[in-house]
Amino acid sequence: MPYPARKCKHTEAVCPVTHVVIRPDKHDCGYVDERNRLLPQAERIATTRADEWASMRGSYAQTGPAYRQQWVREFSAAMDQLWAERAAKVSK
Ligand SMILES: [Zn+2]
Repeated sequence: MPYPARKCKHTEAVCPVTHVVIRPDKHDCGYVDERNRLLPQAERIATTRADEWASMRGSYAQTGPAYRQQWVREFSAAMDQLWAERAAKVSK
């Protein structure tokens, strides 16, 4: 086995029973920590943008699946944007 079995705190990466990393070749704890640090900011951006999106479309757009889909789109875009900004800062 090329990668030794290891444990980590990231619930998305580990077996829920043993807490051993399921794919140690695919899981980078440092990368996940860096991404997780951006989540609260991305959530705020997504909520602001999804609310703006909904306010231009009337009250019917402010609840329900269309709003949630838009929120997920905005969240994904915000994460990409924050990650790119972070990468630009790191490489300077
Ligand atoms: Zn990890």
